[in-house]
Amino acid sequence: MYLPGIGPRKAEVLKKEIDVVSYEDMLYYFPFRYIDRSRIYTVKEVREIAIQTPVDGSMPQIQLKGKIVSFSTLGDGRKRRLTAIFADHTGSIELVWFNSLKMIQNTYKTGVEYILFGEPRVFNGRLNITHPELDTEDKFLGGEVGNQGQYRTTEAMKNIFLHSRALKRIVISILELLKEPLTETLPDAILDRFRLVSLDEAIRNIHFPASPQALRNAQYRLKFEELFYLQLNILQVVKFRNKKLGGFCFTHVGDYFNSFYANNLPFELTNAQKRVVREIRKDMNSGRQMNRLLQGDVGSGKTLVALLSVLIALDNGFQAAIMAPTEILANQHFDTISCFVEGLGINVCLLTGSTRKKEREIILPALEAGEIHLLIGTHALIEDTVNFNRLGLVVIDEQHRFGVAQRAKLWDKNAHPPHVLVMTATPIPRTLAMTFYGDLDVSVIDELPPGRKPIKTLHIYSERRKNLYESVRRQLQQGRQVYIVYPLIEESEKIDLKNLSDGFETTKEIFPEYRVSMVHGKMKPAEKEAEMQRFVAGETQIMVATTVIEVGVNVPNASVMLIENAERFGLSQLHQLRGRVGRGADQSYCILLTRYELSEQTRRRLAIMTETNDGFVIAEEDLKLRGPGDIDGTQQSGIPFNLKIADLAHDGQILSLVRDLAQEILDDDAALENPEHALLNRQLKKLNRRKQTGWFMIS
Ligand code: ADP
Ligand code: MG
Repeated sequence: MYLPGIGPRKAEVLKKEIDVVSYEDMLYYFPFRYIDRSRIYTVKEVREIAIQTPVDGSMPQIQLKGKIVSFSTLGDGRKRRLTAIFADHTGSIELVWFNSLKMIQNTYKTGVEYILFGEPRVFNGRLNITHPELDTEDKFLGGEVGNQGQYRTTEAMKNIFLHSRALKRIVISILELLKEPLTETLPDAILDRFRLVSLDEAIRNIHFPASPQALRNAQYRLKFEELFYLQLNILQVVKFRNKKLGGFCFTHVGDYFNSFYANNLPFELTNAQKRVVREIRKDMNSGRQMNRLLQGDVGSGKTLVALLSVLIALDNGFQAAIMAPTEILANQHFDTISCFVEGLGINVCLLTGSTRKKEREIILPALEAGEIHLLIGTHALIEDTVNFNRLGLVVIDEQHRFGVAQRAKLWDKNAHPPHVLVMTATPIPRTLAMTFYGDLDVSVIDELPPGRKPIKTLHIYSERRKNLYESVRRQLQQGRQVYIVYPLIEESEKIDLKNLSDGFETTKEIFPEYRVSMVHGKMKPAEKEAEMQRFVAGETQIMVATTVIEVGVNVPNASVMLIENAERFGLSQLHQLRGRVGRGADQSYCILLTRYELSEQTRRRLAIMTETNDGFVIAEEDLKLRGPGDIDGTQQSGIPFNLKIADLAHDGQILSLVRDLAQEILDDDAALENPEHALLNRQLKKLNRRKQTGWFMIS
């Protein structure tokens, strides 16, 4: 059954672009913001707003009331566009369309009064509005209320006129078709206890708020519901797993651990490291399978914690594995750890994509025979041909590159799943960790080893780079190494690569007495690896690169990081990049180079970077500035359903509330079998099944 105005083509686009295939999906496609449409501006006022808006800042969406004075068509071929002059009694403004020019010109008439809605911008010094919404006053939807919902739409949707207003019409027709109130999704007991409005009331008001208070009530109820089911789901999984999967018991600490501690450990552990090792020991001796996330800022010494955990596994007669996301990192772990455990009689091997066949033929049987104690490697570790004898612990470094599926695959390597320790340097705010890694316990190393000098971060305008090069040269003269990082994103890949190679050439000219490496993601892995190794070995002193160096590489001698076009990087990314320096005893520097004109948000981002080195502060700020959707790895982290309305940056309080509620319910009835929990059980199953079919199917 098709909705009014939704033929097969539009249905297809709705499905592809916003994953809406049913009435219900559409009702759960909420406005992303609300605009006060009780206000109508004049062209003169818009001009005043435009003057106050920074060059790259966007202007608010506004409403005008006026008439189209004239149309004209400009340009040829792909550049063809339709423009119109729109005027009210205070002045005129240009309207522009790039698509469906014929249809626009046939629909809108000169001399008729329209209410216009759109986002003005200044282009070539002139004020215009691209693809505005125009309505005659009688057709104008719901103008009586101040708050008007705006729906997010994509280019592909706009191209076939599925803009915000069209979506609003679809929602109206669905609501009109409903014969009865929407079926409630939360039990009455919960509605009463937390004073939530009904689903029906919430859905109607989220789309068409009857008042600001009604909108707030609707938002609260829907966020509550969304986070509640999410927590119920996660906590149920945790309960189930704890019950079902017994873990190996690592009861004692033996010779490997003790002699390492007494003889090989080159420094005192930090208090944070000690605490975390205790937490891990306790976990591995609990009889339950450990699933622990170890968060620690770059350079906080996670590798050592991993190693100590490995030693406990070995002491209990088990094998261990450490898995890294790249070969460079796997190699580095192998080198570091082999060095650390020298003389202890531990057999450590390395297995990556580049391991030769001959070597594999030695490693694999030895692994199966239990002669290898610790295997370090990349994805190669989870290939089917790799079989352990008694795998007791798996450490996964830099978690965000591994999906849940890959984690699960490692478990399969045993009848009994091994303990799993996941390490990440991407600090995850508490609310996010609770949501996305709800099935993992979390340990935090919140202390850097002593003697580190905090990295000094400076923001410098590109125009002033001359002086900068002299400072960089002084560092090089002291034998330090330098990173120069360029942005590279897919959308502007060609230009970005050109900038990178120009930068490479310029760098060679500026520092003719030093050797320069270049690494980027488009190079063949082997080439990249080789070039990286040259820098690691100190054969080259300057590394010009893209963000491929972001993850985990350890070159303690590198003391300067220059980030070109820093305005194009996100906060977390800048922080990760910065973590590549400051790993030795010397004072390190991170220089953020940008052009002079920047938006407020960008300035704020750069200011945060210069103010703090604390990854958690940065992660919290990042979450506030960008929203959680962009946080690395959330896609693959196994979150069972997408958040439609809750915002983890701001809804931490609701999250804690519903987590306690979910816990309370599950403590009492983990399988949700009590009749009073029937609705919860049904709804949870339904959400997990994702796309449903039924009376509300559009196509
Ligand atoms: P990350 O947490 O980023 O993986 P690493 O484990 O690579 O950090 O540690 C960074 C550096 O700090 C390494 O050179 C390591 O040997 C050193 N380190 C680790 N723990 C300590 C400590 N307790 N005291 C001094 N140096 C330490
Ligand atoms: Mg590391």
